[in-house]
Amino acid sequence: MTKFIFVTGGVVSSLGKGLTAAALGTLLENRGLKVALQKFDPYLNVDPGTMSPYQHGEVYVLDDGAETDLDLGHYERFTNVKLTRLNNLTSGQVYQTVLNNEREGKYLGKTVQVIPHVTDEIKNRIHLLAEKSGADVIITEIGGTTGDIEGLPFLEAIREFALEVGYNNAIFLHVTYVPFIKAAGELKTKPTQQSVAKLREIGVTPHVLVCRCEKPLDKDLRQKISLFCNIPVEAVIEEKDVDHSIYEVPLMLQRERMDELVCRLLHLTTPTPNMSHWQEIIRKLIAPQHRVRIGVVGKYIGLQDAYKSVYEAIIHGGVANDCGVEIVQVDAEDIEKNGADKTLKGLGGILVPGGFGERGVEGKILAAQYARENKIPYLGLCLGMQIATIEFARNVLKLSKAHSTEFDLATPHPVIAMLDEQRKVTKKGGTMRLGAQPCQLAVGSKAGQLYGSFVIHERHRHRYEFNNAYREKFEQAGFAFSGLSPDGKLVEVIEIPDHPFFIASQFHPEFLSKPHVPHPLFKGFIAAAHQRIHQKPI
Ligand code: GLN
Repeated sequence: MTKFIFVTGGVVSSLGKGLTAAALGTLLENRGLKVALQKFDPYLNVDPGTMSPYQHGEVYVLDDGAETDLDLGHYERFTNVKLTRLNNLTSGQVYQTVLNNEREGKYLGKTVQVIPHVTDEIKNRIHLLAEKSGADVIITEIGGTTGDIEGLPFLEAIREFALEVGYNNAIFLHVTYVPFIKAAGELKTKPTQQSVAKLREIGVTPHVLVCRCEKPLDKDLRQKISLFCNIPVEAVIEEKDVDHSIYEVPLMLQRERMDELVCRLLHLTTPTPNMSHWQEIIRKLIAPQHRVRIGVVGKYIGLQDAYKSVYEAIIHGGVANDCGVEIVQVDAEDIEKNGADKTLKGLGGILVPGGFGERGVEGKILAAQYARENKIPYLGLCLGMQIATIEFARNVLKLSKAHSTEFDLATPHPVIAMLDEQRKVTKKGGTMRLGAQPCQLAVGSKAGQLYGSFVIHERHRHRYEFNNAYREKFEQAGFAFSGLSPDGKLVEVIEIPDHPFFIASQFHPEFLSKPHVPHPLFKGFIAAAHQRIHQKPI
């Protein structure tokens, strides 16, 4: 029988509910349990694919092409689970299904209502995931903050669900905030009390309370929270701000014995997890043997969440090399204003991530040129590959007006263009080239060497592709197409062999990197960046 853990959040958003859920997943997986993680998002968009990064941060793409919330990125990075579109449910999807059912007459003349029709649909999704995943434990995170109007159907659904399967099989974990008030010099518990009261009002009594705080929770405070929130004191868990890295969270929760408590509540008998490999990762993050600085050139640079998986994958590449990475966030428009040398000098490597829209594109092209000409390691991801291609066309092939038709429809040299099948698409949302697709790497290529295999599967999210009409010209000038779709028609990876490290992919390798399984491209990129600065291999 599958066990269920429902994670809610209170007081404020951005508490790191997703991280807490993911970190609990790490611990349970290391106790030998098969874990699945699921996110419910109360907004009405069908998925976050149509939302701006300013609204939502990164869109995380799964193997099956689902465009999902960035918390699913945490889930995959902290565990070994492979998620599918079943693992992210939005209100938009729920209502779409309910309304379609209504139009098809499936409710047999009944009045269609939030309870039971919407809540049933939510509960169905939990059962469906249990059935399809075969997981021992499903951790379901409810997005938003307790008290939000739009979150109510989800809270009602999990209340009913837990009642139906029994509290031996389903528990509620509430992540809350215990602020430190400087003037009083104290941690304050009132917001937590009120948030728990709000939950209890709708019939959800938390079994575990995870208290996010800046300072340690002392014994008295734990007792106070326990008393006022009606939660045993051992179930009041401290989750202090991490000192160095989010990857410390599983170890912190383990010290608080949260995994032990959860297993006890769910009547799961499991061994204590051996987290020594995880401790070694943290050691490398806190006290690495080497150091390097990497520039990430983007347009949403002020926005920490917009390139979440990219930043994480860079850090993993560092872990793989026992190398601490300082990520320098470079605004592409600054390069346009101040020049590449001024903005990028002294960096070990330059990375251009994915992106949409014209703003900052010329700055990114200058960054690629600077990396190519000065033999600085370059890693291009999706748009970063298209940028490298445009740069090469303009400055090496002397096609000075070369561009992508995304940015200049009338370019005489559309080296990046839309495939015919994409041109017919008018609907937004779920219509790009999405998800994991196979790619064949060339024998003797640097990419092949890094991956150590020649058939790989990587995730995509884009509309534009390299234009094959230009392939020969590029090849003659020393540009290698080292990864192609199995039919040879789509360019997946490019590299410049006569350069210490110049690799770019049409896919998004960052989605497959984990601290315990660093991605080979990022591993190779950080090694090359370190070598450039220190003139010797790690
Ligand atoms: N805008 C480009 C395209 O649609 C690149 C997308 C991306 O970087 N994810 O092809």
